Amino acid sequence: MNISQEEIQAYIDTPLFRLISRAADEMQLECYLIGGFVRDFFLCRPSKDVDVVAIGKGIELAESVARKLGRHTRLTLFKNFGTAQIKHKDVEIEFVGARKESYRSDSRKPIVEDGTLEDDQRRRDFTINAMAFCLNRDRFGQLLDPFNGLQDLEDLIIRTPLDPDITFSDDPLRMMRAVRFAAQLGFDIYPDTFDAIVRNRERIGIVSMERVTDELNKIILSPKPSIGFILLEKTGLLEIIFPELIALKGAETKEGVGHKDNFYHTLSVLDNIARQTDHLWLRWAALLHDIAKPVTKRWDPKQGWTFHNHDFIGEKMIPAIFRRMKLPQNEKMKYVQKLVSLHMRPMQLVEDEVTDSAIRRLLFDAGDDIEELMTLCEADITSKNPEKVRRFLGNFRIVRRKLQEIEEKDRVRNFQPPVDGNEIMELFALPQGRVIGLLKAAIKEAILDGEIPNEHDAAYRFMLEKAEEMGLTPVKER
Ligand code: ATP
Repeated sequence: MNISQEEIQAYIDTPLFRLISRAADEMQLECYLIGGFVRDFFLCRPSKDVDVVAIGKGIELAESVARKLGRHTRLTLFKNFGTAQIKHKDVEIEFVGARKESYRSDSRKPIVEDGTLEDDQRRRDFTINAMAFCLNRDRFGQLLDPFNGLQDLEDLIIRTPLDPDITFSDDPLRMMRAVRFAAQLGFDIYPDTFDAIVRNRERIGIVSMERVTDELNKIILSPKPSIGFILLEKTGLLEIIFPELIALKGAETKEGVGHKDNFYHTLSVLDNIARQTDHLWLRWAALLHDIAKPVTKRWDPKQGWTFHNHDFIGEKMIPAIFRRMKLPQNEKMKYVQKLVSLHMRPMQLVEDEVTDSAIRRLLFDAGDDIEELMTLCEADITSKNPEKVRRFLGNFRIVRRKLQEIEEKDRVRNFQPPVDGNEIMELFALPQGRVIGLLKAAIKEAILDGEIPNEHDAAYRFMLEKAEEMGLTPVKER
């Protein structure tokens, strides 16, 4: 890459960086932009987070910069970590004194001493993240790249600055970061670096699950997540952090009948979804849609391979996976569960003789997530046979049309009971409870079955009949 110091200077010649430069010169401190910001400059990607390293006194430099910036500036000191953060308008700048780190074998927490710029670059994870631009006036825009990060950027390579066994053993989270950067940037992991991940994979166990999951989410959100998952699988990390996905691997054959390899199928579905949406939880649903296939797999001499109820069993497996991964246990998880449990339903609605009632039930069960469910089902088509793909996509177009027609007619997607509970309670002078619940459920079922329209008066009449069957008498006439 042929980029001159003038080009770098022009890029970083902003009032903010000039101000940091002045502050550092006044304190006679060497000071550099480092890490992601520098990497992203060469990748022509915008970078909002800025890391500044000063040789000594990183916190004091941050204090001086904050004073100079004045209004719209927030300074936060993390004295224990020896870092400081400035938020100025929508930019976040992290300040740190250059450091030398040494590690013990049982912890990601290093022993830290003051160091030179090169010590600081050595402790960085990858060569592409270890480049620095000088901010001092006399060397403004000078690139410091002792580990040839620029060359690795050009060659699309993730490589550690030091012996990779040391880098990964010191902080095993870096193994996840290697895979994550490879997935985000479409880079390869350098063979030596890759082999060291394989050797050190068990050390991922000393990293907190939250940090591992953060990286996993970034892999899932990358443009082609399969790159990351295949690397996780090949390095042996996936077996440790996500054994349920490894269980999807392999294709068994019996009496000449095989089934598809559900690991690679799942990754194709995830890649397909990633082309459609950045929605993290929809991507999680794609990753988990077939998660119960291994536990439900049976050989049936008549039908061949079957995976009965893998949708419902999959839904039930999700809470334990989310708990272990420290993922949210709230409506986001419920959303993933819902899509996994419903992912076989649209396909069952293709046939001509499908009843309106089946369609109403899907609309009711999926509610506002129906569109995303259809997107997942379309992504689930991974056949290599273009004729089949065309036919399946055509089928889903038919289902979409049926869904739209029924929704226009019956409005069950956001089902609101046409007769409300209070009205029933007053009519029979009953408290909230089982009887009211039964009557409301009967109304809902009758509407979904198409016995009555989704309207108040029809539902009211139906409810009176049901109540009579149950031996209830109204205490007041309507
Ligand atoms: P992104 O913003 O996409 O996460 P980034 O490289 O900016 O990418 P940060 O986590 O903000 O990621 O890290 C900033 C810099 O700090 C990195 O570029 C790298 O130099 C260094 N760094 C971060 N985490 C580690 C780590 N675990 N080990 C070594 N260096 C690290």
